[in-house]
Amino acid sequence: MMSKIISENKVAQVAKLIDKAKNIVIVCHIAPDGDAIGSSLGMYHFLNALDKMTTVVIPDAMPDNLLFLKGTKEILNYSKYPEFAGELIEKADLIFCLDFNALKRLGEKMEVAIASSKARKVMVDHHLDPEGFCDVTISHPEISSTSELVFRLICRMGMFDLFETDSATAIYTGMMTDTGNFTYNSNKSDMYFIIEELIKKGIDKDEIYTKVFNTNTVDKIRLNGYAVSEKLEVFPKHKAAMITLTREELNRYHYRKGDSEGLVNVPLGIENIVFSAFFREEKDFIKVSLRSRGSFPANKVASEHFNGGGHLNAAGGEFYGTMEEIKERFVKILPLYNQYL
Ligand code: 5GP
Ligand code: MN
Repeated sequence: MMSKIISENKVAQVAKLIDKAKNIVIVCHIAPDGDAIGSSLGMYHFLNALDKMTTVVIPDAMPDNLLFLKGTKEILNYSKYPEFAGELIEKADLIFCLDFNALKRLGEKMEVAIASSKARKVMVDHHLDPEGFCDVTISHPEISSTSELVFRLICRMGMFDLFETDSATAIYTGMMTDTGNFTYNSNKSDMYFIIEELIKKGIDKDEIYTKVFNTNTVDKIRLNGYAVSEKLEVFPKHKAAMITLTREELNRYHYRKGDSEGLVNVPLGIENIVFSAFFREEKDFIKVSLRSRGSFPANKVASEHFNGGGHLNAAGGEFYGTMEEIKERFVKILPLYNQYL
């Protein structure tokens, strides 16, 4: 048996909104990851089974390694088709906001479209401090993935039977990716009860792992190898590590979106390292990814210094300046967090 996490009242409200809705849109955060796509498609297949006109609209392109999931062909990329996606958003009477807590996480353009839509909105998310822009806000930072919350929501609405393999595969993908294949935030027994149910629905968990994690390009493997061997700096006194990659270095390895996914976790595999930062140069800013172990607050560092936020152990943000400046900043701020070591 699963413990009841989502309140009865919210489950009933969502069931009613779905019942009344004709056109449903599902949205998730910019640069969608396994959990964003997994929760969106999990919900999408379920709503399709209910015969609801449903479209998943994502702010920008999705990573190639998730294209194996059923339903990805029907996902609409807002940055590619802003007019068509905008029309769908305008026409929607219900919008599910999955795996993000603030409109800003949709990116500048889509943020406006969702904010100005008259549709009822339901947030299902696990990031801290949700903004209050939804009619129903299901926010549980203690749950390790939004995909798990979507599964719980569907079950609690009494519709477990409508849940089939494609949906289950998407949900499992989100649970797996947001826990690093069940290596962090993964100590709750409910999670394994849910996986048992997903397996009974016909998922092939070994195959999902292979499709998500073992489909790298040679360039990606070489880029990651280069980053670790040449660009890793360790600060033993602060139990911290940093990896940086400039545009030039990324171009050298024909960088494609997602190629540095997971790189930030690598230094946490070093004994006594509890805080890892990865800085990747983008066109107009430097993308910041932070990971930590234990009680070291990666999200505090992200919000205090890098215009971002996130979870205790996984956070991110943006830095407007040069690579030299961000490196200098990082070294300077490390001592401020010694109390968490
Ligand atoms: P990643 O390092 O994988 O890009 O992000 C890890 C986590 O940090 C995300 O799940 C999200 O919660 C948070 N995060 C990443 N980038 C940002 C950002 O720019 N702003 C905020 N508020 N959170 C971010
Ligand atoms: Mn997530």
